[in-house]
Amino acid sequence: MPAALYRLARDPARRNPNPVVIIGGRASATSRQVAARFLCVDCEGRLSSAGERYVLGQCARPNGEFKVRELLLRASPSFEDKNFCVYDAAALLRSHTDYYLYFAASVFWRASARAWLPPPADRQRFSLGDAYQEEFRLYLLGIAAFPRNGRLLVHIWSDQAIDFMTIAPCTLRVDSERRHKFCIPGIPSSCSWAVGSLSAMMEEH
Ligand SMILES: [Zn+2]
Repeated sequence: MPAALYRLARDPARRNPNPVVIIGGRASATSRQVAARFLCVDCEGRLSSAGERYVLGQCARPNGEFKVRELLLRASPSFEDKNFCVYDAAALLRSHTDYYLYFAASVFWRASARAWLPPPADRQRFSLGDAYQEEFRLYLLGIAAFPRNGRLLVHIWSDQAIDFMTIAPCTLRVDSERRHKFCIPGIPSSCSWAVGSLSAMMEEH
């Protein structure tokens, strides 16, 4: 996960101020960043300017700022239920939509391209699969479009109190899809577990 996210996730009010990292269902506060340098300066710079910097600036901050949520609160949802609202991200974010797509792709690709941590005994290391990993790599390099079978869901938490929790990429199998997700403060993925998250769904072949 990006280093900037770990700084953001540190909560000085907790006894252990380090970010809570959940891997394989176990949570622990750690200062060990789930990241390692394996890209060159140019590639790191591209990942940062094409998505990371923007998206991290939109998520929940310890001072209460939560820009993307403020944007949603001013907009009309295209569907509303008592538990959630659905918004048309492309219409709302316009040219900024690509930042989310790129940022999510970069987190999933980095997690898949490199084993950040030894996997817990009951879990496999995160993987996009060889074919998608290559499609994502070409997309991140600007050589190809976003994978045709991929869709990205961005979940924004509506909770007043934001839990500064980060969840590393993991995978669920739903029918004929593989659903990859990760969670950053204020922006989790397709479940009820985090503050806000990003998930990408890939059709299986
Ligand atoms: Zn490079």
